[in-house]
Amino acid sequence: MKEKYTPEFFLSLSDRWNSILKSGDDIDDIRSNLLNHINERHFTSYSDKCNEMSDLDLIIIRDCARAWRGLLHSRSERLAGFSVLSELVNTAHGRPDTSLSEAFWGDICHLVCGIEGEFKLHDNTMFSFADIGDLKGRDAAIARSDELDQIYKYVAQKMSMFSSGLDQRMMTKRDANKRRIISFIGSYGESWDDWHWQLQNIARDEKKMCGYANLSDKETENIKRVKSAGIPFGVTPYYASLFDEQGGLEDRAIRAQVLFPESYIDSCQSEDNVDYIKDFMLETDTSPINLITRRYPEIVILKPYNSCPQICVYCQRNWEIKSPLEDGALAEEDQLDEAIRWIEEHESITEVLITGGDPLVMSDSRLERILEALSRIDHIKRIRIGTRTPVTLPMRFTDNLCDILASFRISGKREIAIITHIQHPLEVTPDFVKALDKIRLRGISVYNQLVFTFYISRRFEAARLRSLIRLCGIDPYYSFYPKGKLETADYRVPIARMMQEQKEESRLMPGLSRTDEPVYNVPGLGKNYLKACQHRDLISIRGDGSRVYEFHPWEKKIADQKTYVGDDVPILEYLKRLEKIGESASDYESIWYYF
Ligand code: SF4
Repeated sequence: MKEKYTPEFFLSLSDRWNSILKSGDDIDDIRSNLLNHINERHFTSYSDKCNEMSDLDLIIIRDCARAWRGLLHSRSERLAGFSVLSELVNTAHGRPDTSLSEAFWGDICHLVCGIEGEFKLHDNTMFSFADIGDLKGRDAAIARSDELDQIYKYVAQKMSMFSSGLDQRMMTKRDANKRRIISFIGSYGESWDDWHWQLQNIARDEKKMCGYANLSDKETENIKRVKSAGIPFGVTPYYASLFDEQGGLEDRAIRAQVLFPESYIDSCQSEDNVDYIKDFMLETDTSPINLITRRYPEIVILKPYNSCPQICVYCQRNWEIKSPLEDGALAEEDQLDEAIRWIEEHESITEVLITGGDPLVMSDSRLERILEALSRIDHIKRIRIGTRTPVTLPMRFTDNLCDILASFRISGKREIAIITHIQHPLEVTPDFVKALDKIRLRGISVYNQLVFTFYISRRFEAARLRSLIRLCGIDPYYSFYPKGKLETADYRVPIARMMQEQKEESRLMPGLSRTDEPVYNVPGLGKNYLKACQHRDLISIRGDGSRVYEFHPWEKKIADQKTYVGDDVPILEYLKRLEKIGESASDYESIWYYF
């Protein structure tokens, strides 16, 4: 990463660009001159004349050409409401807009270097293998096997940097935390494994939370602000025992799950951030009847309980979620009956995701009644239960609950699945493993939905999580781009980082450890698969350095639906945040060339 990206640095990169940007007064003439140059760069670099470049470097030129075509198009400018080209022309004429950020220039400079072939990406890859060119047969296989050993060694070393809750060192620390929390509550140790006891002792304010864990003054202050702003808050004693008393990097991901940062509280208190904006997924527009959300032909979401044992800071349903166990969180019987009747009347629905909130906070008998009612509907082939209790309240998986869940599973006729939400290897503990084993041994499959936040985004951090949960028998299912909500900006990472993680880290793992799909959830419509670059287009880079994408709807080839324009987070800002926590931005350099 360069020390400073500026307009001057941009102007120093290419005489050709400067002369095109200064060629005349008509912006559309300049646009077509620049596009001609970009097309020519793409075409000539692929011709035999330029074969001194490596094949992989040529692909970067192709990708940058595509990105530039998207940025320069007048349609893109209309959709984004911002013209990158006008800013570049003004800068070339000595009138740079001083509000353009360093992050903007960082992205532009990398794109110019990309199309001009002035980058050093493949001089600086993780591995430099000797050319095995003419080797054949066994000799080639041995040479390749040696290369693969090198890759494994590198991966193993990177992965070993991330502790898990199954490491003896962590288990010892957490046992001590548990004893301290029990003594603070003034209870007997045997209550710890009773999920009702855990719920009764949820920390709901700063006093209790300070008794459970060592909090900084800022964290304590933020909890007070959260309470007075009416933002739902709560942490189970079990989850509090996962906090590290010394703080530091190791429990950063744990704290970030439940302790609201200042930026979140400020944003929630801003007059601009009202509920309909927080409802990023437009659930109010996709709810044909109370308690139901429908975005796909065969599956609906059923929300019988509107709260959780503890609240995740980045929860996409924060506009409707209530504090843990708050009165009114449980759906009224007649509404629930009506919702189930509605499902019965819609034969296209074969699958129901019971979520909320966390439905496993409900009593066994209530849950059993819902499962019974759904199981009586012939066209329901799969019932999924969306729950984070394996992580927040693993003692919830009593034998009785597991027997109830298993009793509705009929091989070849109806599947019962748990969709859980594990965010970090530090959340995988002996209690978690025990809970998981209980359900899996009864034939219930478990899938994980990871929200790819800043706190799981370091090199190999998410890969470590996936490979660990696979060993617990859980299938990685989705990796979600955190919703583009104002209040959770601190949790977002650039789409480019998700792509880089998939190609450079996840791809090195065995197939069963990387079964998840990275997705961007399009408001009102649903999942856009990020792995397929033909399902989105880069259309702008705003002055603050945020890339703007046009996302295509999932049914784009089968129905005429609107596209969606969404802003990402600036890459340079992300890299700077990584540096603050001790990462080297140069380890992430290729991020600029994922689009
Ligand atoms: S467990 Fe799910 S529903 Fe509950 S707060 Fe977290 S993200 Fe929201």
